[in-house]
Amino acid sequence: MDKQEKNRGVLSSIFLMKCPRCREGDLFYTHTFSYSRPTEMPDKCEICKQSFSPEPGFWFGAMFVSYIWMAWFCLFFVGGGILIAGMSVNGAFALLIVICAIFYFWIFRISRSMWIHVYVKYDPFAKSKK
Ligand SMILES: [Zn+2]
Repeated sequence: MDKQEKNRGVLSSIFLMKCPRCREGDLFYTHTFSYSRPTEMPDKCEICKQSFSPEPGFWFGAMFVSYIWMAWFCLFFVGGGILIAGMSVNGAFALLIVICAIFYFWIFRISRSMWIHVYVKYDPFAKSKK
């Protein structure tokens, strides 16, 4: 029972934007909706020292994650708005633009979080190794 400390799952680690190796350290300096320094990340994890920029151009791939998610989201949002909710095309796109503007930095961050979780494996003992 004493070793039953919070073992965060991969999905909660991704969505809480935690370090993929130890799942404890934060990937970003600030809260998602603080809008101060929204894109800045520490060089490495404050808990396990995992590098958050493993190689030059590493974050380029996160752009494709973002693109895939946003393309499907926009398609289903506008399609659902028109076909299910009976909105006009202009109304559906206007609402889509507002939603995308509000969640712009969240999408940016969640894409980076997903991307680094693909490449860095979870190490349950990373917290103690340092
Ligand atoms: Zn870490």
